[in-house]
Amino acid sequence: MTDVLDELTPDEPTDAPRAPASLNWRQEAEDGIVRLWLDCENSEVNVISETVLTELDTLLDHVKETQPKALVIRSAKPAGFAAGADIDSFAELRGEGAVAKLEQGHAVLDKLEALPFPTIAVIHGAALGGGFELALACEYRIGIEGAKFGFPEIQLGLHPGLGGTWRLSQLVDPVEAMQMMLTGRTAHDRKAKKLGIIDALVPERHVEAAIHAAAKGEMKHHAQGFRASALRTRAARSLAATRMRSESQKQAPRTHFPAPFALIDLWEDHGGSKAEMEKAEIASFAELLDSVTAQNLIRVFFLRRKLKAAGKGRSGIAHVHVIGAGTMGAEIAAWSAIQGHSVTIEDVNPEPLGRAVKRASDICERKHLSGIDTRDALDRMMPDPSGLGRARADLVIEAVPEKMELKEKIYASLRGKMKPGAILASNTSSLRLADLVDAAPERTRFAGLHFFNPVSSMQLVEVVSHDRAERETLDRLAAFVTGIDRLPARVTDYPGFLVNRILAPYLMEAMVLLDEGRSKEEIDRAALAFGMPMGPVTLADQVGLDICLEVANSMRSSLDRPVAETPAWLREKVEAGETGRKAGKGLYDYKGGAEPPKSPEPDPSTEIIDRLILPMCDAAVECLRNDVIHDEEQLDGAVIFGTGWAPFRGGPMRYARTRGLGECRDRLRALAERHGDRFRPDPGWDSLA
Ligand code: NAD
Repeated sequence: MTDVLDELTPDEPTDAPRAPASLNWRQEAEDGIVRLWLDCENSEVNVISETVLTELDTLLDHVKETQPKALVIRSAKPAGFAAGADIDSFAELRGEGAVAKLEQGHAVLDKLEALPFPTIAVIHGAALGGGFELALACEYRIGIEGAKFGFPEIQLGLHPGLGGTWRLSQLVDPVEAMQMMLTGRTAHDRKAKKLGIIDALVPERHVEAAIHAAAKGEMKHHAQGFRASALRTRAARSLAATRMRSESQKQAPRTHFPAPFALIDLWEDHGGSKAEMEKAEIASFAELLDSVTAQNLIRVFFLRRKLKAAGKGRSGIAHVHVIGAGTMGAEIAAWSAIQGHSVTIEDVNPEPLGRAVKRASDICERKHLSGIDTRDALDRMMPDPSGLGRARADLVIEAVPEKMELKEKIYASLRGKMKPGAILASNTSSLRLADLVDAAPERTRFAGLHFFNPVSSMQLVEVVSHDRAERETLDRLAAFVTGIDRLPARVTDYPGFLVNRILAPYLMEAMVLLDEGRSKEEIDRAALAFGMPMGPVTLADQVGLDICLEVANSMRSSLDRPVAETPAWLREKVEAGETGRKAGKGLYDYKGGAEPPKSPEPDPSTEIIDRLILPMCDAAVECLRNDVIHDEEQLDGAVIFGTGWAPFRGGPMRYARTRGLGECRDRLRALAERHGDRFRPDPGWDSLA
């Protein structure tokens, strides 16, 4: 039989049925092995859309008829295996319709799984969500170095929906599988091998040999281990599930994030039966899809796309020169180099330059860059103590301390020294560009490029305009931001720009609450209960109390509305050097004292929440009224990606609209009567309503 198959490859003129036409798959056959290359039409990445699955269904019927030695599934995209499900289609996927579509998808992957010959997924780059589920339905998985696997569905308020909950928990230690699904964390190549997600991890040049080994059944599967067999009983799963529930509850309550709890229920109740778990997975996924949380999180996914679209086109920026190698400059330089730019970085002192290179290498490690990619990134980043890069760069980013005279002096020294057409951008967070622009060598090619700390984790960058900035300068900067895999928010020159203007009242009101005698834990835990990623007291320590003071002063002097008073003890603390986490002591004590709380208050004070959150919504309305940003969606996206603002609530404007614009305004009025004029609602509420 094998001999016959060896002869009968579909490449040769035989009576074998022709491969059906497909828009997203290419079929090849050699040595009796059929290869299906996933190559999604008109896209740089593969997504597992309904069409991809329907076409696969037809192809599988055909492949089955040809009786090959093995079937290989690979991606033809350099970007990776598959990025996940087609989230665009989620918008129409509701209720009964969702169940039917999911059932069809399940049937295709079940068909793949049931093929009577070895099925082998070869994975390079990322196999996420639906892509990971496709790979899991194969008998073998061969990972190419750099491959990574994960289920990011939880970030959309969902869990896997194409059989992944069953297949991953059957393949690897179920507790590890649940952790991956509950956290959305990815497993990179070696970790994936250790867990048993992949059967082999090879460099590209050994892929063929690995495929042949798998086709002959000579590749060993990873054994699932003792814990997996112990968890086959419902009682054991219940015990583990209770622990998982209490961990999840600490991260976010069920009312806000139902998905982790639904996933735990699913595994606890049905983890012993494929048929039951798959059926329940479909029902649970469809129900989650209808939840407000998932709808808001899916919207956040689209907000990201909208922000990205504001940075289309070519930046014409190849070489970046950074002035100031401190906290921000080092990260900006490292990140730009990692993303492929030539970077020079200068500082008045040699030590920060050394630290900047170390920082770059740490980021490469944290981001799991390969040895070669790390070396290339570090080669692209050149410490430049004499500032030779100033004359060669297409973009000069100034990131020196927040002092007007210092920045002006540096701009003066750049006059006549920059390459023609080059842009100068300042990373200032609180100085007004209108005040800096006169010192810039070319006013039209000067703007703000406000990165958030740390640049390697915070996705947002504000591209700040001013009256004299040329449109082309802003377009190029936005394109540069997108090009380094960050999200540009195009904002105008306003006190605190957009994000800090909105965040400031959160920090400042927390100081007033402390002054009134509320405990820092109570305040932080109330904010966590609302869904903020960090309580305002902890955040103030993190940002630095000295910087908070500066922000408060700058808001007070530049906004034409009342802002919260700064308590005297805050100034005293800063004068005493207790400036927050960086000093080891601020509002919390980081050297042996009680660390900030990480879990939300189960029954938080709505008064505290409203006093912290509604002024942010009010500031958002004020920013819209003053055209600081184009529209509500961009605003919500910028605030979520710039601060981590409760994403499942959809951003401050979405939250205000969900709660009711009139209700928010009335509540602000009531707060103003009780606590002072700083709560007086912005006039912009009236036109919104
Ligand atoms: P930092 O103090 O950590 O670093 C500033 C660096 O500039 C230092 O290494 C210093 O030696 C160097 N420097 C001083 N004078 C110089 C000169 N004449 N030429 C070259 N280098 C010089 O400051 P930072 O926190 O990185 O802040 C830099 C800028 O970024 C500020 O405008 C700040 O407002 C802004 N920013 C800071 C943050 C933050 O969280 N730290 C966030 C966003 C924006």
